Amino acid sequence: MSYKEVLEKISEDIHNELPDNSAITTIEFEGPEVAVYSKKPRVLVDDETIVKELAKKLRKRIVIRSDPSVRLPKDETIFAINELVGKEGEITNIDFDELVGEVIIEALKPGVIIGKSGEMLRNIIAKTLWRPRVMRTPPIESRVIKTIRHLYQEHSKQRQEVLRIVGKRIHRPIIYRDDTIRVTALGGYAEVGRSSSLVQTGESRVLIDCGINVGSNTPNNTFPRFDLPEFDIEQLDAVVISHAHLDHSGFVPYLFKYGYKGAVYTTRPTRDLMTMLQIDYLDVANKEGKTLPYEQRDIRNSVLHTIVLDYGEVTDITPDIRLTFHNAGHIIGSAIPHLHIGEGVYNIAFAQDIKFAKSNLLDSANARFPRLETLFIESTYGKPQDILPSRIECEKMLRNIIHDTIQKGGKVLIPVLAVGRAQEILVVLEGLMRSGELPKIPIYTDGMIREASAITTAHPEFLSKSLRDRIFHEGENPFLAEQMKHVGASEERELIIEGDPAIILATSGMMNGGPSVQYFKALCSDPNNALIFVSYQGKGTLGSKIKKGITELQMVENRKTVIYHIEMAVHSISGFTGHSDRRELENYIHKVTPKPERVVVIHGEESKVTKFASWIYKTTKRESLAPPNGTTIRLK
Ligand SMILES: [Zn+2]
Repeated sequence: MSYKEVLEKISEDIHNELPDNSAITTIEFEGPEVAVYSKKPRVLVDDETIVKELAKKLRKRIVIRSDPSVRLPKDETIFAINELVGKEGEITNIDFDELVGEVIIEALKPGVIIGKSGEMLRNIIAKTLWRPRVMRTPPIESRVIKTIRHLYQEHSKQRQEVLRIVGKRIHRPIIYRDDTIRVTALGGYAEVGRSSSLVQTGESRVLIDCGINVGSNTPNNTFPRFDLPEFDIEQLDAVVISHAHLDHSGFVPYLFKYGYKGAVYTTRPTRDLMTMLQIDYLDVANKEGKTLPYEQRDIRNSVLHTIVLDYGEVTDITPDIRLTFHNAGHIIGSAIPHLHIGEGVYNIAFAQDIKFAKSNLLDSANARFPRLETLFIESTYGKPQDILPSRIECEKMLRNIIHDTIQKGGKVLIPVLAVGRAQEILVVLEGLMRSGELPKIPIYTDGMIREASAITTAHPEFLSKSLRDRIFHEGENPFLAEQMKHVGASEERELIIEGDPAIILATSGMMNGGPSVQYFKALCSDPNNALIFVSYQGKGTLGSKIKKGITELQMVENRKTVIYHIEMAVHSISGFTGHSDRRELENYIHKVTPKPERVVVIHGEESKVTKFASWIYKTTKRESLAPPNGTTIRLK
């Protein structure tokens, strides 16, 4: 069957199933979805079960859109919505996405816009023929989210073209039938950094993650092994990104620089956060005079090719692969991609960077899949000795160190990654201050932390239920507590350094640059101050040297050597990590259902992947592997 015939067949089914008065004008593939344009969308929207039944029957994602010719003009739409909703809904912004016929309504009281059992939504559709997407007004404004929204508005024609091309590719006729499934290790195998796996079936090729090893100094170890013969950018069908950290997402724009035309699938928070981190990566590399692997416009292109999915949404991404994201518990928006290949022929889950325990920000990683033959699992803390203190113990340690430092009139510096740990620590600190265990002293955030927190709170549906409730139902957003202060200009740093006791969270987390190093230089000679490491310190970084206990630091500044004497207290609290420790990893293997036939251990130093893989074999008697980069494994 040709692509045209595929579309004709689906159109026929849709016409047959939908009521006669639906006034359908066009049916099109838009990315993985089937878009049905109608002059009377209300007929279909009012009775959701019709469309749900149809989607189930066709096993496709179906979206109903109003035909552009019947939509009310934009200014009249804004007027009509305000009139319908009234002041009660506290609408803060109304935007349009013409491509999909959506009116995006931001409001402080989204419940009012939705109405009882969606009544208000139906009224808005009936009156305007735009489909409302209701969002809670983000508590902190995010520059990145704004930029992305404008990008989609400005380039809606290009975006439409992208979705058509992607849709065509997904629904192409299957030519070659070969049942073998292979995975090639392009990066992040027996190492941490530049994660990338290539999944090949007889029909399609999918890349899972596309990372950069930011800590590496040699180009040979920095990027995934795209030089291997298995990898061919022309043949690549889809790219799937598990989460925003650069070692999983940093190399995506490179694909667009070299002609990739397919889609990037990820969650909404990951799209926003990885865009922020990629822009920053270019900025930093530029300042350091490094050769850049891609440019700003490649990041833009990557955003225009990104298709966001929610957890649990089953989506065709190639003719023979269905993708579903499950919560990974690692950072906001992080996912375990699950691939369902062929008609139930084979199932793979990539549990890379998972936290199998509840944190302050997120629920524990998902361990339940509809089917599972091969599980890929990380092993950052894969050695038997890698047992970390519990979250409760860590919070106590943090509290005690800060308490003692304040008593001495000192300041606390916590170097953090902007995304993930920073938000976790902020929530902990705010909690300790609210309960009175710590006095309410200023908590300064420097670097990209505020923007990352803004993106985090813009996607409350991805946070743990308890935090979500706190942010919205009790009006206690921890990120907006009065003691949280963002450092906007470098002059403010001087005032903070000279000022009263305070807690400072600054990037970068491993102190290989950024404001954390500047604060350190200013604070290190005073024994009353304290430095607390809360995350892994990579080999060779300034953070790892300080952690090891050096007492003197020589730095070249303006061509002069400056010596810093380290008198401040140095602490390390390891249990705030977003990774599972060895105990949690073992737990995951015990709990994961159904039991996979094979486990592939990745994302850990060589000694850790092999040790954890052999434990898995001994305990479960299932096949386990820990291959190095460059290996191709045949799964089936
Ligand atoms: Zn990560």
